[in-house]
Amino acid sequence: MFQKILVANRGEIALRIICACKELGIATVAVYSEADRNSLHVRFADEAVCIGPPRSSESYLNIPQVISAAEITNVDAIHPGYGFLSENANFAKVCEASEITFIGPTAEVIEMMGEKDRARREVKAAGLPTVPGSDGIVEGEDQLAKEATKIGYPLILKAVAGGGGRGMRIVRKRDELLSMYQTARSEAQQAFGTPDVYAEKFIEHPRHIEFQVLGDQHGKVIHLGERECTIQRRHQKLLEESPSPAMDAKSRKELGAKVVRALEKIGYTNAGTVEFLMDEDGSIYFIEMNTRIQVEHPVTELVTGVDLIKAQIRIAAGERLEEAVGEMTFSGHAIECRINAEDPDTFVPSAGRITTFQAPGGTGVRVDSAAYADAVIPPYYDSMIAKLIVKGRDRAEAIGRMKRALEMFVIEGIKTSIPLHRKILADPDFSAGKFDTHFIEKLLGTNGK
Ligand code: ADP
Repeated sequence: MFQKILVANRGEIALRIICACKELGIATVAVYSEADRNSLHVRFADEAVCIGPPRSSESYLNIPQVISAAEITNVDAIHPGYGFLSENANFAKVCEASEITFIGPTAEVIEMMGEKDRARREVKAAGLPTVPGSDGIVEGEDQLAKEATKIGYPLILKAVAGGGGRGMRIVRKRDELLSMYQTARSEAQQAFGTPDVYAEKFIEHPRHIEFQVLGDQHGKVIHLGERECTIQRRHQKLLEESPSPAMDAKSRKELGAKVVRALEKIGYTNAGTVEFLMDEDGSIYFIEMNTRIQVEHPVTELVTGVDLIKAQIRIAAGERLEEAVGEMTFSGHAIECRINAEDPDTFVPSAGRITTFQAPGGTGVRVDSAAYADAVIPPYYDSMIAKLIVKGRDRAEAIGRMKRALEMFVIEGIKTSIPLHRKILADPDFSAGKFDTHFIEKLLGTNGK
């Protein structure tokens, strides 16, 4: 087992990883930017190294700085969390070259899944159903026209290097095709440094359903059930739950077995998430794979009893899944609300000083956060400041528990998305489990916002 791990992240996930290390008896090193000097991940790590100015490009994304911090403090491994360097294959390679274990899959697999058109081809060959679309990059206008005829309308153009819900364009009719292609390419170039896009059938009313997986370094992969992440705004997840109200035991077993087989074929190691869209008739299609721990991992932890971060660390240290995971039984229902520092009506980020921070507690409530009263939320990073997660014996109990926990969560000094979550939880279609990715638009529309 590792003696010391560097946590290459900030905020709640850095703290979450530090908690797991403490429980495993592993020493920790935090890295931080000048804006994060007073952060809790710095306070609770055994050592901390400042890696640069506030901007992520100069600190949390600065590979030479992170690696120097790891070398100075003599760590055995680096946990990248999510975002920042977590899906950067080059970073995984640099770790390997520096003889530091990267806690995640191999650089080759990160690279494969990071090219979204290639990921589609690979998982299709390994037996997963993919959204009908182009087999690779759409190279030029002739191919574009051919693919559009094959796929039909509406279709969606997606950046090969896309992520975070960005770099997507829907094309509804033939005469928009060329201009949308050009816009998608230039947006992709700007956001991701490459203009390449691929095309997929646009599914009008999908649900987003994803499988959590773990693979060890001995060739074995397991799945830990699915998460429902359909409640999104601008393709960004707001609320997640497990299990999905749209999956039954039979479909879970069938798709779960396919996911496991495909990833064993690919040689997947460590934690990962296989994302699917489900259309109105219940057909399910792969869209992408994330080769890291996800923001929404706690809902899976609550229904399986597995500590996913500890499992990641143990797998990276060479343990077999049987040891790394232990007993796993599915029980109950879990929901997570992402609490963002933003105006709940306009969604404008709301940085600044938190004056009151009173987190709810009691049976079945978990709060993952690095925020506290008097903390200053800097404007430089993601606006998510807390995750409120509840577990109930069934979905109805989890909804009731989440409603009261949201009511008892007091954050003052900045604006947060708590009022939006209260609206979601109060909606009858949400309670009935009847929704698609347009739920939020409809919810805000009917409220005149
Ligand atoms: P990212 O890597 O940016 O998260 P994804 O491929 O995971 O991109 O897609 C993010 C979201 O965009 C999905 O959850 C879904 O809401 C929407 N989306 C993506 N592909 C399609 C599609 N073919 N049809 C309809 N919606 C889609």
